[in-house]
Amino acid sequence: MSVFSSPDFDNHEQVVFCHDAASGLKAIIAIHNTNRGPSLGGCRMWPYASEAEAVTDVLRLSRGMTYKSALAKLPYGGGKSVIIGDPRLDKSPALFRAMGRAVQRLAGRYIVAEDVGISVPDVEIMERETRHVAGTTAGGAGDPSPATAYGVYMGLRAAVRHKLGRDKLDGLTVAVQGLGHVGTYLCKHLAEAGARLVVTDINEAAVQTAVTEFDAERVTPDEIYAAGCDVFAPCALGAVINDDTLQVLKAKVVAGSANNQLHEPRHGEILRQRGVLYAPDYVINAGGVIDISHEGRDYDKDRAFAHVAEIHDTLLEIFRRAEAEGIATGEAADRIAEERFRRPEPHNSAAA
Ligand code: NAD
Repeated sequence: MSVFSSPDFDNHEQVVFCHDAASGLKAIIAIHNTNRGPSLGGCRMWPYASEAEAVTDVLRLSRGMTYKSALAKLPYGGGKSVIIGDPRLDKSPALFRAMGRAVQRLAGRYIVAEDVGISVPDVEIMERETRHVAGTTAGGAGDPSPATAYGVYMGLRAAVRHKLGRDKLDGLTVAVQGLGHVGTYLCKHLAEAGARLVVTDINEAAVQTAVTEFDAERVTPDEIYAAGCDVFAPCALGAVINDDTLQVLKAKVVAGSANNQLHEPRHGEILRQRGVLYAPDYVINAGGVIDISHEGRDYDKDRAFAHVAEIHDTLLEIFRRAEAEGIATGEAADRIAEERFRRPEPHNSAAA
């Protein structure tokens, strides 16, 4: 196992291996880039098959946060942490206190939040040892899903404007895959804007709610890709844009909250060649992290949501750049992000 020669090492500033014998903590914290401010990113708890797998994950995820924060215009850099363990079996207060101490030792260069396998109460235990946490109840922002859904809604409108030349959604059909925290809030925004909904979920109760509350048409999970629609909104799983689904996809726009929607980067290029406009996932789903960035005693929901709404204009900039340079939207997003984080921001020191 190596770090510096790993294919996922991308000039990360700092990678820290943390161990606490008493609690059994084995964790890795990766700080990718702090040019825009202290690194912010969730802590993931996962039963990694090997330490090498954990290193790969933390290197990739922390790099992704640098790009996400830069495009969301946050005064933060990118970081992430992973705890090697099974979240169903290995959680304990001692483990999270040890993790909190590990975060504290970085003196604010890394701010920890929730991620897969780590919930708000877990981060609140870390908070007993460090103030460098985000996404806790005390911070004010709370559940990030409504902000994420609002960002997806605004981003979806930008994509519709750019691709279909329409400011309004009434009369358009949106196929929503996944009616969980984000998908259900998104359906509400879309229904209020007059869009027709086609929905699916493996959870029958969630589907029934969407049918009743939003007059949505239901399809099976397999049928959603081929559904007749203008927009496909993936809000469940990753890798849903792949060789199989591309054969049946009818939508002209792909805009949803799911992480890692493209199975491989080349699928973004295939979408471009087919004239399907893809809203890069890490840009359109940044509403939650934008909301969290406003946390604090003076949290103001209106101000936070106005910031989330800027996802609309950021995506328009990305779409225009992609068109002008003849590249996939994901690549255009990466280029804009790199321009933003490779030179330090003037407000960098104030953010700390
Ligand atoms: P969630 O777990 O609340 O909802 C996911 C839903 O997808 C569930 O209802 C689940 O039953 C459904 N689902 C699972 N497999 C499915 C399948 N094969 N077909 C159809 N539906 C299926 O998660 P969420 O918080 O709503 O997040 C949705 C997606 O958005 C995830 O990919 C998540 O990583 C991403 N995301 C969420 C946030 C947030 O603030 N919650 C922020 C950024 C990104």
